[in-house]
Amino acid sequence: RTAQTGVQMAAMTLLETRGLTKTFDGIKANTNVDFKLETGQIMALIGPNGAGKSTFVGMLCGRIEATSGQVFFNGTDISALPAHKRIALGMAYTFQITSVFANLSVRENVALAVRRLKGKSERAVQSKVDATLERINLADRAEQIAGDLSYGHQRVLEIAMGLAQDPKLFILDEPTQGLAEAEISEFIALIKSLGGNTTILLIEHNMDVVMRTAEQITVLDFGEIIASGTPEEVRENSAVKSAYLGTTNAER
Ligand code: ADP
Ligand code: MG
Repeated sequence: RTAQTGVQMAAMTLLETRGLTKTFDGIKANTNVDFKLETGQIMALIGPNGAGKSTFVGMLCGRIEATSGQVFFNGTDISALPAHKRIALGMAYTFQITSVFANLSVRENVALAVRRLKGKSERAVQSKVDATLERINLADRAEQIAGDLSYGHQRVLEIAMGLAQDPKLFILDEPTQGLAEAEISEFIALIKSLGGNTTILLIEHNMDVVMRTAEQITVLDFGEIIASGTPEEVRENSAVKSAYLGTTNAER
């Protein structure tokens, strides 16, 4: 029965990294990161500029090759899988830099994202697109060219592209960067509405957003985890306080 219990516990963890490390020409962007994300949780990943957050999620998604270490998804070692295979397993992500196709319509952008999941009929694709645009309040802009949208709406479109894939894990890299206050409030509501069904890893600078959405927080500093826990625990952590005082990692 012990083995059985082990299996059940493993099934609760959606994402795990062991010893994940990335070195860029001698720069240690991530060092031995051991990380766990439980199914259904909203986790914020925070840390000063240059702490290694984007590098970490790049390795999760398979867009950056790890120097060493492993990534497990649903209990399977996916370290060797290319990005498109990780998408097929249920990982979706938005980038820190906006990456919509500027010359395509809103509808066509979301359709491209849905088509990344192979084997859907064109009718199924379009109905998924409609449902997603409805849900994220972009339906009346469906035929607009993405490049003509405001910056805030382009970021919302990116989120729609991720959601349209019905991901098990949705990773968002600084999604509120450059958004207006009202758009940030909408974003918070959206993330809360997803919680429980979709597991979320949110890289976020805005501490108000972090404190209002995250159930767990992991803090990176100089490419290493210096704290993890509930928002209350992390807020009181002295290592976290000192990491956030003064300069960014990039400047130190
Ligand atoms: P964060 O997202 O927390 O701001 P990054 O993961 O972007 O941090 O960067 C972590 C460190 O790795 C920084 O020192 C950064 O300059 C360096 N770095 C990131 N990407 C590259 C790259 N492609 N080539 C060289 N150095 C990089
Ligand atoms: Mg970053």
